[in-house]
Amino acid sequence: MAEKFDLLVAGAGIAGLSAALEASKQKDCQVAVLDRFDGTQSNTYFAQGGIATAIGKGDSAKKHLGDTLRAGRGLCDEKVARLIIEGGPAAIGELMDLGLEFDGGNKSPELGLEGGHSEHRVLHINGDQTGKGIELFMKKIAGEQKNIRFLGKTYVNEIFVEKKEFIGVGAIGRQTEFAANALVLATGGYAACFEKTTNPKTTIGSGIALGARAGCPLEGMEFVQFHPTTLSGQTQSNFLVTEAVRGEGGKIVDESGRQIVNPLDTRDRVSVSIYRELMLGKKVFVDARGLSGEFFAQRFPMVHKELLKGGINPETGLIPIETAAHYTIGGIKTSITAQAGVGEIYAAGECACSGLHGANRLASNSLLEGLVMGKIAGANASAQKPKSMAMPIDSRKPALPDERDGVPTKTSYEAMRKIMWRCCGVIRDEPNLKDGLAGIRNLEKKIEIRQDIESIAVRNALFVCEKTMEAALARKQSIGVHFRAN
Ligand SMILES: Cc1cc2nc3c(=O)[nH]c(=O)nc-3n(C[C@H](O)[C@H](O)[C@H](O)COP(=O)(O)OP(=O)(O)OC[C@H]3O[C@@H](n4cnc5c(N)ncnc54)[C@H](O)[C@@H]3O)c2cc1C
Repeated sequence: MAEKFDLLVAGAGIAGLSAALEASKQKDCQVAVLDRFDGTQSNTYFAQGGIATAIGKGDSAKKHLGDTLRAGRGLCDEKVARLIIEGGPAAIGELMDLGLEFDGGNKSPELGLEGGHSEHRVLHINGDQTGKGIELFMKKIAGEQKNIRFLGKTYVNEIFVEKKEFIGVGAIGRQTEFAANALVLATGGYAACFEKTTNPKTTIGSGIALGARAGCPLEGMEFVQFHPTTLSGQTQSNFLVTEAVRGEGGKIVDESGRQIVNPLDTRDRVSVSIYRELMLGKKVFVDARGLSGEFFAQRFPMVHKELLKGGINPETGLIPIETAAHYTIGGIKTSITAQAGVGEIYAAGECACSGLHGANRLASNSLLEGLVMGKIAGANASAQKPKSMAMPIDSRKPALPDERDGVPTKTSYEAMRKIMWRCCGVIRDEPNLKDGLAGIRNLEKKIEIRQDIESIAVRNALFVCEKTMEAALARKQSIGVHFRAN
């Protein structure tokens, strides 16, 4: 028997929690947050640098907007960007009023500088643990609301739509069907589909595949942002050496100590410069020796600890780096109201393509987007009324295909990540993209079919990779994060 709520939120990162909290202001709105884990495997939890908002002396929403539009290279939706940027101070202020404390104190918080920003405007928590601070705080507040229920270990694997109306979702977990008036998808991006990535390995675009199958249009799938400075030589997720290290004076140098690029240029330019050096067989480093060790340890405690673990003392030694897939701009195309194009389905955060980032994301704008668009999604989705006719949710079961032997899920996942990195990475060309697309389609045909979460998630990821490759092939020119060699 399907469990009935007013609103379902899929995902418990910043976007999902923001949507749930906003919706819970309607006291008669019963909200369920369905999450594959418990929020601690989200990108939000791992966000380091901070959240951008124009509250500094001499700063303004106009300047923040100007920087965002410049980074987006003409492809931002200016109305949406303005809405998010202007909504930032109030949305962050609301969290502060609830008790979230930023470094420096909420009266005059410390404001960091990051690449592409013309002003210091990045709020942070415990130096480089902003995401963890926000995630745990919002989860705690949401947990205190009587009308929000958390259902962890629940993987949404199908969206039920009938006559263009949303009626519920199918899930794998303790309950298999949920009915509701509306759905907010907040399931995150797909950067872990790449072999080199800063994301937790489960950030592989599940919700985007589900939304697309329910009829939601996708946009900007080719725009994958590569982070220039991730610790090299790691196997699963590359540890991030936050951009804020460069904001505080860190340089990017080669083995001889020569600075190879302006460290505060936008990520795409810095990434390409680094990638080119690496392709020539050279090594590239962040040189933070100009910062005192004490300051480094205090400002970047998590990075400091990780470096020491690897035998690197940033005060005396260079930090070896490489580029890695970091943030995915593309996703479910949403309107300014966060509506996802089909019935009462909304989307926010990294699974959505709101139009804020255009062809390139400005650092620390994504937590802001998740927070503000999550609120908008939560407000609009919770206003949806129960359907007049009784929807046949109970007769619906997730359409699980028959099991079949084939290439094991784990092998397919590793192969997918390698193909994406080799054929759809920092610098792209048509022959490689075509090869990559054929490789992904081949895996889609040959992968074993099992009905456990891992297996379903990898099949969803292959679908997302196919859409990414197709979009990358169609985007012939270099723009923003997207570099085409030919
Ligand atoms: C290392 C790192 C550092 C970063 N630093 C910054 C920074 O300093 N500033 C900044 O602005 N941005 C930063 N980002 C980007 C930012 O963290 C993300 O863009 C943002 O947190 C995305 O939030 P979200 O709520 O959309 O998704 P997420 O936080 O990724 O949450 C998605 C949730 O959906 C759940 N989920 C996924 N699929 C399903 C499913 N099918 N069913 C149920 N649940 C599902 C997941 O378990 C997860 O809880 C960083 C990212 C990384 C990886």
